Amino acid sequence: MSDISVMTVVQGQWFDGKTSAHVPAELQVDSAGSSCVIYLADNTLLQTCNFIDIRVSSRIGNTPRYLYFSEGQKFETQDNAQIDELLEKLRPSLWSSLAHQLESHSYFVCVTLVMVIGLGWASMKYGLPAASKIIAYRLPQGVMNVASTETLELLDKTHLKPTKLDQEVQARVLQHFALALKENAPLHVRVVFRDGGELGANAFALPDGTIIFTDEMVNLAQDDNELLAVLAHEIGHVKYRHGLRSAIQSTSLGFIVSMLTGDLSAVSGALTTLPVILTTLSYSRDFEREADQNSLEYLDAHKIARHVFVDLMARVTYEAHCDLLLLVEQHALDKVKKDGKETKKSAEVTSAETTIDSTAEKTEITESPMNKTPLTEAPLTEEQMAVRKMQCDKLIAEHKSDKQVFTDYFSTHPATEERLQKFR
Ligand SMILES: [Zn+2]
Repeated sequence: MSDISVMTVVQGQWFDGKTSAHVPAELQVDSAGSSCVIYLADNTLLQTCNFIDIRVSSRIGNTPRYLYFSEGQKFETQDNAQIDELLEKLRPSLWSSLAHQLESHSYFVCVTLVMVIGLGWASMKYGLPAASKIIAYRLPQGVMNVASTETLELLDKTHLKPTKLDQEVQARVLQHFALALKENAPLHVRVVFRDGGELGANAFALPDGTIIFTDEMVNLAQDDNELLAVLAHEIGHVKYRHGLRSAIQSTSLGFIVSMLTGDLSAVSGALTTLPVILTTLSYSRDFEREADQNSLEYLDAHKIARHVFVDLMARVTYEAHCDLLLLVEQHALDKVKKDGKETKKSAEVTSAETTIDSTAEKTEITESPMNKTPLTEAPLTEEQMAVRKMQCDKLIAEHKSDKQVFTDYFSTHPATEERLQKFR
């Protein structure tokens, strides 16, 4: 007992644990928790221990409290207030004792933490894709048909317009596709045409085997084999169920939670939102590589030159960048015009002239034939096409150094260089 000044003394009765006999005794506890029990009659020491090793009965009103010692001895006291005070001072709360335990086992905590993070990462990286694959291949055709029909309806409402392609062009392309469709009959592949609107030159596959070609894509192709190569790529997406797998992966956290909690309404909820997810989806690069591989194998098997795929893709990428750059340019011009007008209105002459002068280069574009025709209106005359190409080349050259990342459909596809290597 080192610090006498803060000693807590509690009066009570001592039971030796062997008989029901008891003697008057005193429990003395110092500030560090060292405790001893003294027999009051002759001051003999009955017991020593640390307070935290004593089991204290819970307080029930003002009934006597029992303190149990390791060998069955018992100390009984009416002094609930003193006991409560000791407990508060010397017995840490559950939380702080847990924190203390963790602190004194920091190595164990670190290892556990690393394991939890590692497991989480591994299940996200490998577990989810694997699970999505299993689920995607087990979804019945009926579910895929409904999801795909609804997806196409949604796309028709939001992004696509009816095709403006001539009947003969459609028939010619479908005739060129006929063999590939026949060879992939089990996948129920069918091809439909749509005006791509703001999606431009594009092609995408729905889980039920529906493959959409935009008019712009068909118009960009200089050879039907180029379209065939794209078809084989899209068939790859259908064959390996990339759409469903991506959709399931992107919703799987909710899916897993609902499975665990047994909330089936969330599962059916996920299925009804599938079309929305499918319209906003972009595939992972690995899926794109797998689809590219499917195209490559098809071209090789039918002795079609591999480069037809990248020939068209290069044009598609060029056009997509071109559209975007022209659009950005147009916005800048509109803004300059608007600002110019406002400045003229308020302050008249000089300042407005300087604004326009400083962008003389850009104003030039406004006067070109291209801007008399809205960007989306097709088809352009040959003269307009040539002007457009000139503008695009100029803008692309200007923006090359920007390292600007275009967040369009193509940003998720394998880099052009990678494709060039593979298909040349
Ligand atoms: Zn693709």
